[in-house]
Amino acid sequence: MRSALAHEHFFVDFCGPTSATYMDVNWADVTGACVESAAQLRCQKIDLLIDWTNIGVGRNVLLLREISRRTGLKIVCPTGIYKNLVPPQLAKSSVAELATHFYSELTVGIEGTSIRAGWIKTATTESGPTRAETRIHQAAARAAKRAGATIGLHSPEALATRAVMKTLELEGFDVRRLVWAHAQLSDTADHIAVAKRGGMVQFDAIGADRDDIFGGPTDDASMLERIAAMVDAGLGDRVLISADATVSANPVSSQYDRQNTYVYRTFVPKLRRRIGAAATRKLLRDNVVKAFRRGSRVR
Ligand SMILES: [Zn+2]
Repeated sequence: MRSALAHEHFFVDFCGPTSATYMDVNWADVTGACVESAAQLRCQKIDLLIDWTNIGVGRNVLLLREISRRTGLKIVCPTGIYKNLVPPQLAKSSVAELATHFYSELTVGIEGTSIRAGWIKTATTESGPTRAETRIHQAAARAAKRAGATIGLHSPEALATRAVMKTLELEGFDVRRLVWAHAQLSDTADHIAVAKRGGMVQFDAIGADRDDIFGGPTDDASMLERIAAMVDAGLGDRVLISADATVSANPVSSQYDRQNTYVYRTFVPKLRRRIGAAATRKLLRDNVVKAFRRGSRVR
């Protein structure tokens, strides 16, 4: 079975795009580590990986292309800006200009290359979207609608997720094309509510005992519990799982302790026992393809 990972990072940079240390790393070392990691994933029969590093947190499409060429792993990268980490060249852009920028990365190419983004990643501050973030969400909605692309949302809080969904819908975006990342920190009732509206709910701390950033239990037993609740509610086709691990981070202190190989090595056998082989297969591959597909048709 060919398999996929729905939320991972090869490289992340949290120095901020205006910092002198931003993207200042030994790229030969980073590339080596990432290629080795991708090769291990290929040994697990994984051939598709959705990378969640977007503008402002170290996206490097040449690195991703190199990893892909050397290992055969298909990598889908996003456009979109992380929280308020707007790079200087986009700092004064209007919502319309941001939308044009995202659209061009989805349809023409990124930073002078012909490598296109496959989807749009956005993020919200945990306590709720800031004004600057809302402008990015509006731009993302416009670009996604026009390009037939999915929007992924970093949002550990259900309340903030609902606020962003409202903004997206006001711009005419169909929330059936939304992927809610870090959903594990919210209640099953929230997961079901979003899934019933057609959104994809992503549990992406597989392999972490506790969520490194936001707290809350994310051990295997509690993750299985959340997934099974969705499957039992008939919403198994709205669930995505991943480790949200980072192979290489700048600064090194921002690296948290997770392994992208954990999902298939340790968690998937448990998941099969819990929800059955067919439901597991759907969740691991079909749901990923469905969630990040391009085109305006909504299923
Ligand atoms: Zn992530």
